[in-house]
Amino acid sequence: MRKAASLLGTFCRQFKGSLNRNFLVEKNEISLTLVPATIQTHGHHSQRRMSTKAKLADRLKGTEKNIWVDFSKLAVENKALNLGQGFPDYPPPQHVVDELMKAVTGNNPLIHQYTRSYGNPHLVNTLAKLYCPFLGRQVDPMNEITISVGAYGVLFCAVQGLINPGDEVIIIEPFFDCYEPMVMVAGGKPVFVPLRPAEKGGVLSSADWKLNPEELSSKFSSRTKAIIVNNPNNPLGKVFNRDELEMIAGLCKKHDVICISDEVYEWMVYDGNKHIKIATLPDMWERTITVGSAGKAFSVTGWKLGWGIGPPHLIKCLQVLHQNCIYTCPTPIQEAVASGLDYEITQLDHPEKCYLYTLAKELLPKRDFLAKTLSDFGMIPTIPEGGYFMMADISKLNLHIPDDDTDDPCDFKFVRWMTKEKKFTAIPTSAFYSKNHKSLGEKFVRFCFIKDDKTLKKAGELLQDWKASLA
Ligand code: PMP
Ligand code: GLN
Repeated sequence: MRKAASLLGTFCRQFKGSLNRNFLVEKNEISLTLVPATIQTHGHHSQRRMSTKAKLADRLKGTEKNIWVDFSKLAVENKALNLGQGFPDYPPPQHVVDELMKAVTGNNPLIHQYTRSYGNPHLVNTLAKLYCPFLGRQVDPMNEITISVGAYGVLFCAVQGLINPGDEVIIIEPFFDCYEPMVMVAGGKPVFVPLRPAEKGGVLSSADWKLNPEELSSKFSSRTKAIIVNNPNNPLGKVFNRDELEMIAGLCKKHDVICISDEVYEWMVYDGNKHIKIATLPDMWERTITVGSAGKAFSVTGWKLGWGIGPPHLIKCLQVLHQNCIYTCPTPIQEAVASGLDYEITQLDHPEKCYLYTLAKELLPKRDFLAKTLSDFGMIPTIPEGGYFMMADISKLNLHIPDDDTDDPCDFKFVRWMTKEKKFTAIPTSAFYSKNHKSLGEKFVRFCFIKDDKTLKKAGELLQDWKASLA
């Protein structure tokens, strides 16, 4: 490592000019970091001249903040028990890990090289086979599927590939936070419409959060290019029922609007709920891009592999973007996911052996444990019908949270304080609302329950101790 550090130091000295003098090498025993040159390093001032052109591109303005970057860092810095960011803290299915080992240790040298831009042929063929019964149609693997860097990559390609400056894109709140900046960066205009909870008090189900059909309809116009539907929804866990999807589909058809359906949590549905693909509703295939994620399907969020499925005229638009900015995704990962899914396909009729189905069974007791834990503490959870997150109302907690001198909504202040003082972290829910609707989200925080039982138990103990300290 030291040798590497000194080599990189030499490299950087040699190429100081071409590095535009904007970065220095921060060197220590175990890591190398490129840091902006204006930052003071090792206690002495090393202010270098900065080009006046080194500024964020205009189209990125307003997208500087990122909830995952900020709150994951905060959790690590405070060594907090982390029920914030959504990832499992226990191993993924062994057969999928074995497939990756097989892929990289096998005899095929080409596994280490680029593969087809729009997706490794093995993977797209497997996905076509997997989704055929769920979409109720044959899927052409070469023209109706495209692979990108996680569902993030697919969403980015879809938005960049389809949205023109000035186009409006309807986003249902609470929404997975990246939708808004993606639309803004494309020059589009996000138009928000909230799901509203029933006013009935006590524990709610995510099914109690509904769209107002008139309100939704009022957001559609000739300027509307697309709507982004997240089903099951993150952070709420809502699984849209057939009537709700038909209502959305009807508006898409009436106004000739494209539907980007983010279905990364498609396999995680509880209590007999059924996940319905909006692309299967009459005349919706032609106007829908369905987004999936291997990170979610196989609990391997670090593998970053996603897919978009839809008609060739839409998929082509994603591919044009993908081929020039990503080109292709890692071949061994694609191969492992393909082989893992090949196995799952053989088990679809044996739900007890098929990971795509057993995952929800594994998550259900975790969901229920978390709901009870939060309720016992005095929060009011919304029980999710799908996904692996739970929103909980913190407004009845009666805690005194000191102000932190920021202009942030209350839930941000609460989670920051809880992380620092209680060593427990979650995600403030107003992050999933647009600027004008933050007040709808700020009395909730989001907890992730795809965590080891031991982690969830620790969370329970932590909340019990906290409650006892208040008595
Ligand atoms: N959509 C939603 C709703 C998500 O929660 C996530 C989080 N991972 C993504 C897309 C991105 O998925 P990936 O990790 O596959 O990029
Ligand atoms: N989708 C995950 C979540 O909602 C993580 C997203 C991220 O870390 N960027 O927690």
